[in-house]
Amino acid sequence: MNTQYMEKKLEQIREKIFEIITNQFSNVVVQTNYKAYIDKFYNSNNIGFAEISNTIFPKLDNAIFIASSQYNKQDLIVEVSVNGKNQGIDIKNLLDELEKEKIYVCMEQESPFYKLLRLNENLDFSEVPERDLNNPHMTTKKTCCERLIVEKINWLHTFYQVKKLELTDADKRLSEIYVEAEKEKLSGLIHLYTKFEPCLYCYGTLIEIKDKNPELQLKVYHRYVRDEHDRIMTMAEDMIARFDSEIVELFKTVLGNLIPSGLTPEQEKEFVIHQLVNYSPQ
Ligand SMILES: [Zn+2]
Repeated sequence: MNTQYMEKKLEQIREKIFEIITNQFSNVVVQTNYKAYIDKFYNSNNIGFAEISNTIFPKLDNAIFIASSQYNKQDLIVEVSVNGKNQGIDIKNLLDELEKEKIYVCMEQESPFYKLLRLNENLDFSEVPERDLNNPHMTTKKTCCERLIVEKINWLHTFYQVKKLELTDADKRLSEIYVEAEKEKLSGLIHLYTKFEPCLYCYGTLIEIKDKNPELQLKVYHRYVRDEHDRIMTMAEDMIARFDSEIVELFKTVLGNLIPSGLTPEQEKEFVIHQLVNYSPQ
């Protein structure tokens, strides 16, 4: 895959989001908070987005679905650091404005479409039992970018089907309409991009989606090999834990001009860690 495409596209989306923030929110503090949220969203471990063909949502030409491993729970109050100070901000208004511009920030759904699947002893996928769903390992698998994005696409697809059926089957009960809407299949093309290869849990789900929607073409692209990332991440965390400010100083020398000026020490540290963690051998 053309990795530059993904990087470029992500930057374009960020610029577009910043533009929306500037245009829609006149309060400068609100603008700063929202931009800090988006920066943190972008600086997370993994980030992914999907582009969809207009056959999936005829009215949503060029819609973007984006998810980050930084913020993926259902919480609308998120903690961001602005000028070195942590604060909780409510992102609901921001998400509403972005959706008006067809940018969907995908977060965990209350009732997901796809059950978490894992390999059984025969190497077949089977449902993760209820009792295991809330263990910490599973919790991270529930909120992978790929999963959140396809869940959101499915959710929106059902929502539009409900709207359509409400018009044609006015005397049907909403619960019946909902069941019918959920059965409607996705058809068209989804290009899904993530930095890292999908994990086995996401793979199981992505395959399930392909099986259930034969008219859907789902293409998945990823940027780095996860193992390599984990190795560097562990190394970086270890170094930072051992040396903290000294290591930041050292990498500041290495990174030199790459470090933007005017950052607080906390932001500088975050930037250096971000550079380390996103290092990818070519
Ligand atoms: Zn995953």
